[in-house]
Amino acid sequence: ITREVAAPAKPIPTKRKVTLTHPDRLYWPEEGVTKEMLADYYAAVWRHIAPFVIDRPLALLRCPEGITGPKFFQKHAWKGINPRIVMVSDPKDPKDPLLSIHDLDGLMALVQSAALEIHPWGASLQDWERPDMITMDLDPGEGVGWDQIIDAAREVRQRLTDAGLTAFVKTSGGKGLHVVAPLKPHATWPEVKAFTKAMADAMARDTPDRYVSTIAKAKRKGRILIDYLRNQRGATAVAAYSTRARPGAAVSTPVAWEELGPKIGPDHFTVKTLPTRLAALGPDPWDGFRAAAVPLRVSKR
Ligand code: ATP
Ligand code: MN
Ligand code: MN
Repeated sequence: ITREVAAPAKPIPTKRKVTLTHPDRLYWPEEGVTKEMLADYYAAVWRHIAPFVIDRPLALLRCPEGITGPKFFQKHAWKGINPRIVMVSDPKDPKDPLLSIHDLDGLMALVQSAALEIHPWGASLQDWERPDMITMDLDPGEGVGWDQIIDAAREVRQRLTDAGLTAFVKTSGGKGLHVVAPLKPHATWPEVKAFTKAMADAMARDTPDRYVSTIAKAKRKGRILIDYLRNQRGATAVAAYSTRARPGAAVSTPVAWEELGPKIGPDHFTVKTLPTRLAALGPDPWDGFRAAAVPLRVSKR
């Protein structure tokens, strides 16, 4: 007897203007995630990721043979680049155009180009010199527990709140957390960098057994590096909802502050699980991100 089984609901195929060559190419071989599955992932999260990857300078981690092959960071165009990845002229370095995308087709072109990590600037093309977000990157040294990283994120949140900002948190998809605060473009890169450096230095000064604010590896064992250097001109941080070119196919995932806890580790959500999470959640935990932006008030002395 054969029984009719309802076919699993398939996402409505998006009409792609970008051709995916070798759609079955394995980008994450262990997890069986193909180029086409990655395209489907980004189509599913498009509404969520768009504000973080559109119309910004981008650095791309490209892995043409998937995550087990060669990887290279690219900030500039290459031969045969898909025309939906656009070149944008840095006002301070106009001869060496950077890369950006304007739309979903651009994102699909990144998939076709094996850009398995998307690393935007914290400023948009509308205002290259005035960042529209701060990213505090919490990098645990050897032996640091997840609860300590969460504590660090909460402390960064408190300090940002004290400065009049609203803080959001995401997993890195790797080992740590990123605390991100939207800004109205106002303060310049040097001002924003000075503000974030002062915060990192204050944390290291107040709790030296937990935090360091300089890269020196020797000092990091058992401590968390408060990496503020994402907040300087030309620096990047992985985008919210970007995949990571690491085993597990994890995604840098926005979470609500109340969700932080032992159940959700830094690489908990993946290409395979994130669309389901978003569908179940209703509102995105970062809804209201842009609306919460205020100018960073810098003290002039
Ligand atoms: P983890 O939680 O494992 O630290 P992460 O994404 O925060 O993940 P980091 O090594 O702390 O990784 O790097 C922070 C950011 O700095 C990256 O997301 C990336 O945007 C940028 N970055 C790191 N290495 C490079 C590099 N070689 N070239 C360009 N940008 C880089
Ligand atoms: Mn980090
Ligand atoms: Mn870092």
